Amino acid sequence: MSKTTDHKTAAAAAKQEGDWQAYVEDFRRAGHETVDWIAKYLSSVSEMPVLAQTKPGDLLDALPQSAPEQGEPFDAILRDFDRLIMPAVTQWNHPRFFAYFACTGSTPAILGEMLAAALNTNGLHWKTSPAVAELEQRALDWLRQWIGLSDEWFGIVYDTASTSSMHAIVCAREMLDPEARTTGSRNDMVLYMSDQSHMSIEKGAIAVGVGQKNIRKVPSDVEFRMRADELARMIEEDKRAGKRPFCVVATVGTTSSTSIDPVPQIADIAEKHGLWLHVDCAYAGAAAVLPEQRHIMSGTERAHSLVLNAHKWLLTPIDLSAFYTRRPDILRRAFSLTPDYLKTQDDPRAHNLMDYGVPLGHRFRALKLWFVMRYFGRERIQAMLRSHIQWAKDFAALVDAHPRFERVAPVPLSVVCFRYKGSDDENRAIMEKVNASGRVFIASTVLNGRLTLRLAIGNLETTWKDVMEAWELLVLAAKSD
Ligand code: PLP
Repeated sequence: MSKTTDHKTAAAAAKQEGDWQAYVEDFRRAGHETVDWIAKYLSSVSEMPVLAQTKPGDLLDALPQSAPEQGEPFDAILRDFDRLIMPAVTQWNHPRFFAYFACTGSTPAILGEMLAAALNTNGLHWKTSPAVAELEQRALDWLRQWIGLSDEWFGIVYDTASTSSMHAIVCAREMLDPEARTTGSRNDMVLYMSDQSHMSIEKGAIAVGVGQKNIRKVPSDVEFRMRADELARMIEEDKRAGKRPFCVVATVGTTSSTSIDPVPQIADIAEKHGLWLHVDCAYAGAAAVLPEQRHIMSGTERAHSLVLNAHKWLLTPIDLSAFYTRRPDILRRAFSLTPDYLKTQDDPRAHNLMDYGVPLGHRFRALKLWFVMRYFGRERIQAMLRSHIQWAKDFAALVDAHPRFERVAPVPLSVVCFRYKGSDDENRAIMEKVNASGRVFIASTVLNGRLTLRLAIGNLETTWKDVMEAWELLVLAAKSD
């Protein structure tokens, strides 16, 4: 190599080094600005409209049709974030977001997400990121203890409850028919859910190849709980017809009304017939952090798997779904597949997360959960859960006392299902009027064949004043209807 070339290379390297430092400094400046933006956003979100005020296609039309050839400064990008993106955001982090299951992207979790992105570490197996494997194990172990599960349970983080439940269904198939992994599913395996189960169960079963005609929707009782007697009857009937019942999914906290299935009776039936029992407590599992609510998990200790979403009521921004199973051996048998390029040395303490599910890559989601659990501690989280449950009861009392509104379901947790004593159209009109105010967002469901309004409390910043504002808007909208 000539001296000139040497000199050039060194200069280029120095320039590159300088570029890298400038790049990092640029980040430091924009990063501080972004954190300031987030703090300002969190302190003023309650004054923003909850629902995005845009029409379909508005944002799409405002965005250039192709990406820039030349990079742009952070200032320009952040300006457009404010100008273009923000108006199209429905504010889930809003204290008067009462739709679906209200949730919180809390500050420790925001920082945890930021650090996870900075590290960009991928926990496909232990060696590729011991921190991902071991912190996930520890954080899920803490959560397991908080909800009163024994140390028999193995936990893993997936993105959503839909993914978690799909993995449960594959485990159920693996338990009953290990051949299916090689030969594919036969179309005689039957899965049972209730007519109130979340649609993710049906979707998961479709994805796994169970076939919709092999999915039984067990009727629910007047309080929207799966009827165990009907479950038993349907299983017997299927067996007589030569079918192979393999999985039952119970729900603790159904999506529409938060009803709680009779898991102990369902567990008896599952055990009698050798079915895998999966419990979907995606929303309600969080309530078991409260000793006085632990009873909702009764019978779950006999299940094979369960799912609890930290991104619903546990202060963690989407996505973090905790999947627990007492049969990690079956989960591993169903999913491990190691090509030559991913072979590692065996060590009993080194979990290779890729062996426990479909995705190979494994995000460092546990970091934000760990931040949340440490920052708030169990007591602060319990205080929040208690308030939400109490306010739901107080809101239900307002509904019960009003001559023109009625309650449609019991209120075991933080969701109230109610309706104006009128037609579905009148109820829809009330909901739309209230939501159009921008002050609150409530959603609806259908219970007993009738449109039902649904108020879900779950955001950390929510106060009783926010709940009252929703009630006053509803009463006003009903008057002017
Ligand atoms: N299970 C229940 C009971 C739910 O209420 C929901 C969503 O609200 C889900 C599963 C699906 O959750 P995810 O969006 O994490 O897939």
